Amino acid sequence: MSANPKISHRVALLESVPTGELLIHELYRSIQGESTFAGLPCVFVRTSVCDLRCSWCDTPHAFNKGVRMTRTEVLAQTLAFDCPLIEITGGEPLLQREVLPLMTSLCDAGKTVLLETSGAHDISVVDLRVRIIMDLKCPDSGECERNLWANLAHLKPSDEIKFVVASRRDWDWAADTVRQHHLDTRFTVLVSAVFGLTLRDLADWVLASQLNLRMQLQMHKFIWEPTARGV
Ligand code: SF4
Repeated sequence: MSANPKISHRVALLESVPTGELLIHELYRSIQGESTFAGLPCVFVRTSVCDLRCSWCDTPHAFNKGVRMTRTEVLAQTLAFDCPLIEITGGEPLLQREVLPLMTSLCDAGKTVLLETSGAHDISVVDLRVRIIMDLKCPDSGECERNLWANLAHLKPSDEIKFVVASRRDWDWAADTVRQHHLDTRFTVLVSAVFGLTLRDLADWVLASQLNLRMQLQMHKFIWEPTARGV
């Protein structure tokens, strides 16, 4: 948990949520904007509260507002969309204990379940059927020191690692990290640009690196900016 007292206070919001309930920011159907599932209709379950504060975060509205719902209610509302693809995102979903059995229930229902997580929390507890999309935070995010490197040993070949790049410094760090851990031969590695970074520059860097990375454009921001109603 962050040493910042304001952030600790917000995370403490979750301590008042009783067993069996979650704090949900929004639950809706949209187009998947990132990952290898980009472009597909998807139901998003966005949990409230995050214990990181990435400098370029595009979901600060989820930090401290939410509605308490029982896990049964979240499951029923999610399944009611009758959509084969579900993404659990945030905020940081793994801060809420009920997220784990919720994902298991969705898998049991035959859904393809994606989990977007910051990479700062233990993923070894996640149902093995869930497709994890895990960030590795680059230096310009301001949260690089929160990367939980032990998570790399728990990712499956079907999981995805995402670097959000804001600068050349971030790119150099991401490329070094991929090489050091051989990430591009073990997982799908996604690279996206903070909105405003020149996409041509990122494309040139990816091509020059000879690394097997998947550059992505955060599709939802092109469709819905400035509301960016996607993940
Ligand atoms: S981990 Fe995600 S939700 Fe949390 S601050 Fe970073 S970008 Fe925002």
